[in-house]
Amino acid sequence: MTDIDRQKTRPEKKTFVVLLSVTAILLLVVLTLLYVVPYYGLGAIHASLPWITGVVIGILGTGVVVALSLLIIVTLLGHDVPFSRKLRSFAVRSLLPLLVVVGRLIGLKKEEVQHAFVAVNNELVMAQCRNGRPPRSVLLLMPHCLQDQDCDVKITHRVEKCKRCGKCPIKGLLEIAEKYGVDLAVATGGTIARRIVLEKRPDLIIAVACERDLTSGIQDTTPLPVYGIFNERPFGPCLNTRVALERVESVLHEISSMNREAP
Ligand code: SF4
Repeated sequence: MTDIDRQKTRPEKKTFVVLLSVTAILLLVVLTLLYVVPYYGLGAIHASLPWITGVVIGILGTGVVVALSLLIIVTLLGHDVPFSRKLRSFAVRSLLPLLVVVGRLIGLKKEEVQHAFVAVNNELVMAQCRNGRPPRSVLLLMPHCLQDQDCDVKITHRVEKCKRCGKCPIKGLLEIAEKYGVDLAVATGGTIARRIVLEKRPDLIIAVACERDLTSGIQDTTPLPVYGIFNERPFGPCLNTRVALERVESVLHEISSMNREAP
């Protein structure tokens, strides 16, 4: 987690912790009801069924509390925790749809949940990089809408063709990619993005996209770690979008520091 991100993600972390806490309470209520409601009926079928059901539901309830508590700890502390890789997969694959539903129940917009989710995903990704083997190969994966709409250079297959006129963020991204020796690719959609990822097989992806594409991209590429940055849309969706280049650079700076310090 970079210093810039640390300052920006405090409200999102709070939102995520509230969401996780409400989700944990709701899941425990549901599990308790699942045990209590059929309790007497199960006893009539076989004397052992109520306690067998109780043990199964107890294990499930403990799993829910432990997983969500670990997620809350990593969210609040920004440190790695045991099983963080599995925890990220669980959060990305199973938890996000549930959090969107719980978010609606407590009056949060879908975008607010997605921002909170990506902020915490980024915490987990950086915690893993810090405490495991730092990523050697990094891919900057950018959406096509960053390119100036009047630019007729075809950069989707070879971004190096960009003439670096500076009308859009592609010039700055190329300079950052060269400075840190990482790959830069521009994708026109999810299918192309998946193909690029399969070709490059990076250790880490730094992806820029809108809320929908970023969250679905993170889900699609799990367990591959994706550090997500939302694009800025001063002219509306999909048109001349922007990206905070200093955020991209600060993540790469942190990764290269990790690699320098790695044994
Ligand atoms: S910076 Fe590159 S991609 Fe952007 S408008 Fe100029 S030539 Fe086109």
